[in-house]
Amino acid sequence: MTNYDYILPTYPRYPVTFVKGVGCKLYDDSGKEYIDFASGIGVNSVGHSHPKWVEAVCAQAATLSHVSNLYYTQPGGELAKKLCAISDMKGVFFSNSGAESVEGAIKTVRKYSNNKYGDDAGRNTIITLHGSFHGRTMAALTATGQPEKFHKHFHPFMPGFRYIPANDISTLEAEAKNTDICALMLEPVQGEGGVMPLDAKYLQKAEEICAKNDWLLIVDEVQTGIGRTGDWFAYQGYGIKPDAVTFAKGIAGGLPYGGFLLGEKAHSVLGAGDHGTTYGGNLVCAAAALSVLEILTPILPTIKEKGEYIIKKVKAMNLPCVKEIRGKGLMLGIKLEGIPHTEAVANLLKAGLVALPAGTDVLRFLPPLIITTEEIDAGLAILQKELSR
Ligand SMILES: *Cc1c(COP(=O)(O)O)cnc(C)c1O
Repeated sequence: MTNYDYILPTYPRYPVTFVKGVGCKLYDDSGKEYIDFASGIGVNSVGHSHPKWVEAVCAQAATLSHVSNLYYTQPGGELAKKLCAISDMKGVFFSNSGAESVEGAIKTVRKYSNNKYGDDAGRNTIITLHGSFHGRTMAALTATGQPEKFHKHFHPFMPGFRYIPANDISTLEAEAKNTDICALMLEPVQGEGGVMPLDAKYLQKAEEICAKNDWLLIVDEVQTGIGRTGDWFAYQGYGIKPDAVTFAKGIAGGLPYGGFLLGEKAHSVLGAGDHGTTYGGNLVCAAAALSVLEILTPILPTIKEKGEYIIKKVKAMNLPCVKEIRGKGLMLGIKLEGIPHTEAVANLLKAGLVALPAGTDVLRFLPPLIITTEEIDAGLAILQKELSR
């Protein structure tokens, strides 16, 4: 037995033990260097051990790390104001993960509807999309529109969710005849489902249909948010304004943090006692998040360019196993043919490039947002060599 045999095998782990990270480079226990195109699944948005991030985390840990949400804390207040400013939302609830952020948003839209239309109105169904991913806790898992992959073995599931095809305006319009709906939840770019950006026309129409029927629009930006797609939030790039926005992964640069932002319609729905968390909003994570926003502010305008650069270079490689490359900003998916995506990820890892699988046949890149052109070139050289075999 090794130490690792005591960890439940819920992940098919690659046979690598990372011990150190600097910027966009990772190092394993043999000293081997890797280029990071994964960011710990979109989390290490400012790379590894960024000096400003380290300083912010250490200074806050040495001052005050946690007091609970029964009191005010300065980093939490400052972060709340900044997040509302960059999202144009009215209020935020801090949590510790993506799934928790989704759970909070689900509670909010249900309470909004039940308050306004009555608890007996039965107006509490949330529509989500085929291929979506919203997390692993029971309500977030129920919301996830991939029953084959995620819904086996765990029944009973929560009532109050219905799934419709993505990018299909007429199915969404047809839902308007039903009186049981309180919200629509979607990811602007479906991440785990295979890096599928939704059509701008679909999102704009969805916003309109939601407004017309008084369904709240929840945009799950756990993966797309905090600069990943080149805007602070992906919905901004689509020119829509949701009622609720979830975020997590990239917000605190490697510490567990997340939350949901609420707009005009829903920001006063939750009152004292309606929702809570012991750790959510802890000071160290808030200080980390503030440093992430500060580091990313000057970098934000370069993110789309970097993504387009990668797309152009991969297309120019003309690799026979690459069917398509798609995505937004530094959230990119390469649809593969002739090689299983998990095998491609394993081969790349062996060759020194850390990448991710997504969906059933997609190689996913979520590099740190601070990545340089030189580092992109070095990573893509490995990709070209490995995928041309
Ligand atoms: C990762 C992810 C989640 C779940 O986040 P956890 O932190 O793993 O709970 C939810 N929604 C989306 C869109 C995600 O990408």
